[in-house]
Amino acid sequence: MNTNPSFLSHTSYDVAVIGGGPGGAALATFLARNGHRCVIFEQSKFPRYHIGESLIPHTHGIFERLGLLPQLCASAFPVKHSVRFVSASGKESVPFYFSETIPGERARTWQVERSEFDRMMLGHARANGVEVHEQISIDKVLFEDSCAVGVQTVSPDGSRAEVPAKVVVDASGRACVIGRQLGLHAPLPELRKASAWGYYRGGKRLPGIDAGETTMFLIPGGGWFWYIPLPDDIESVGVVADPEYVFSQSDDMEAAFTREVALCAPLADRLSAAQRVGPVRGSRHLAYLNRQTCGDGWVMIGDARAFLDPIYSSGLYLALGSAELAAQCIDDALRHDDISAARLGAFESALWKGVDVVRRLIHAFYDPNFSFPKFAERFPEHRAALIDCLVGDVIKDMSAFTAALAQMTPPPPPLGSNIAKPSAPELATFAALPVGLWCKESD
Ligand SMILES: Cc1cc2nc3c(=O)[nH]c(=O)nc-3n(C[C@H](O)[C@H](O)[C@H](O)COP(=O)(O)OP(=O)(O)OC[C@H]3O[C@@H](n4cnc5c(N)ncnc54)[C@H](O)[C@@H]3O)c2cc1C
Repeated sequence: MNTNPSFLSHTSYDVAVIGGGPGGAALATFLARNGHRCVIFEQSKFPRYHIGESLIPHTHGIFERLGLLPQLCASAFPVKHSVRFVSASGKESVPFYFSETIPGERARTWQVERSEFDRMMLGHARANGVEVHEQISIDKVLFEDSCAVGVQTVSPDGSRAEVPAKVVVDASGRACVIGRQLGLHAPLPELRKASAWGYYRGGKRLPGIDAGETTMFLIPGGGWFWYIPLPDDIESVGVVADPEYVFSQSDDMEAAFTREVALCAPLADRLSAAQRVGPVRGSRHLAYLNRQTCGDGWVMIGDARAFLDPIYSSGLYLALGSAELAAQCIDDALRHDDISAARLGAFESALWKGVDVVRRLIHAFYDPNFSFPKFAERFPEHRAALIDCLVGDVIKDMSAFTAALAQMTPPPPPLGSNIAKPSAPELATFAALPVGLWCKESD
């Protein structure tokens, strides 16, 4: 085993980050700016494909603090001002404009082509002093007793090396490197959803500021489609529904997706003159979490911690938000020479509270007896809180809102209370899922 590989600039690091997606890039940027020696190991070569294209406005402050707003404003990414729901019968909601609750520039955000957005973020990390190694994968985290002390890298030629670091951050997305290594990773049975998605050129767009909106087309049985405008006249279109429904007639992802698009009349109308480009991709199991998200010398951020559901486009915000919060705790831990789980994970309870509000709303959305228009009618004083959820402003006291929600839809069990350690066969099945489907650089 090589302990000092030539591709590294140093023999040890303050922080080693697994994964150069938005979460890892943001965290390392914040820490490098505070003078910490950070290295990112990214298994693929950027630009590479990734799903998850719709940002929510509460990312604005994070981009500002990262110094990324000028690049975003100069980009070709469509500007998103709102979200609109279209019922299965084709009835359209009024758009939820973010400007209803947020003043000025912060009320707008972007629909991003991830290959370009992620490349921009990783380049920004480099420009801020982060050492970035692409095409270097991490196959395990190194522990002494129960404290993480570094990572094991794998180069394209298969050679392995050990890299010592004071803190290891798992930002590996759905690969969940630490979660799988420590057996912490578990599917979330209460949110069993599958998804299939593809891209179209030439779909219809709305005029004016609605051109960049996310449109959600609801389908019978509780599923839904996203319709997200991207640069170059491309629309990202994806269906999310119960796996039994999506794959009821065929196990084939493309056949299931094409059938659902044709069945959803208002969506099919938007795509009537469009051509599908590229493959149909998908996942049979979207939701999971890790039963523990930090320990001595290590912390998980973004999708490496948990993923619930794409309905509110909160994934990138939670990745960036957890990155910023974790960076503050790591900075504090390194300054105090105390890398205990308690210090590294000091942000956890506030973050989980925010995640739990999103989870309550996800359950409400999938409750067939609940409807947001009826909720807004009965509790007009909470419409603003509803928009807060759509923009991502949830890491604050939302108890009045969730109490009102509980009057119309039962709250789910406390997060994690029903997550037992999965059995060996369950783990084997889960590990075999095609997590790489949306990470393949060749796509
Ligand atoms: C169907 C679907 C739709 C979605 N829609 C949206 C949306 O509209 N809006 C939104 O905000 N979010 C959406 N998301 C969620 C969003 O994709 C994620 O939340 C977001 O990408 C998380 O960022 P991250 O940095 O945590 O992880 P990622 O973006 O996944 O980055 C992880 C990186 O780690 C690298 N990596 C993995 N394993 C290793 C390893 N062993 N060694 C080194 N590197 C490794 C990967 O190559 C990758 O580059 C959606 C997700 C799904 C499944």
